[in-house]
Amino acid sequence: MTRILLVEDEAAIADAVLYALRGEGYLVEHCLLGGEALARLRGGDFDLAVLDVGLPDITGFDLCLELRGFSSMPIIFLTARDGEIDRVLGLELGADDYMVKPFSPRELVARVRARLRRSLAPTAGTWRESGAFAQDIAGQRIRYRGVELALTRYEHRLLAALLARPGAILARERLMDDVWRDAGETDERTVDTHVKTLRAKLRAIDPSRDPIQTHRGLGYSLKVSA
Ligand code: CA
Repeated sequence: MTRILLVEDEAAIADAVLYALRGEGYLVEHCLLGGEALARLRGGDFDLAVLDVGLPDITGFDLCLELRGFSSMPIIFLTARDGEIDRVLGLELGADDYMVKPFSPRELVARVRARLRRSLAPTAGTWRESGAFAQDIAGQRIRYRGVELALTRYEHRLLAALLARPGAILARERLMDDVWRDAGETDERTVDTHVKTLRAKLRAIDPSRDPIQTHRGLGYSLKVSA
């Protein structure tokens, strides 16, 4: 669930923004003061912050600077005056976007969605560990015992499908649908052949183990434990 913190002291604006964002399925918390927002941002696991510039206690700018001290989450400012926009643009506060009041809540939702898509998308070079395996999903690379595997396209897809559900038995038909979806004519032997070449590549790294397990009549599973 994507969590957003809205910091806005004007009730009418806050209500409209909350309604629009919650309608999109986001989990949105709301506070009126910068100090309270900072405490929540430090303690909570938020994905994005929408900050009003003119808050009763500290300014949204100060809040943003504090927030940037410990988080790189996307920040969208809500500003009331042109003069404030100049500051948003000129002070290099590290904000990602801004909306000038009055604004359309639908437009804000669109900006929020765009920012989240960018920040939540995995970037190449991010390795996710899973036992003896590590996967760079965006970079389409997989490591086994610290060694990057040189895989063909279908070997990579096959191993990625198994890695997505460690321990689960995946039937050959299911693997054919997932892995060979764009390959035209295939049969279950195609799966077996690729499992064989994949096993050989894994054994070349560690001959003492066989992480791909065969379940006769059922399919294959992957044991990721190191
Ligand atoms: Ca305000």
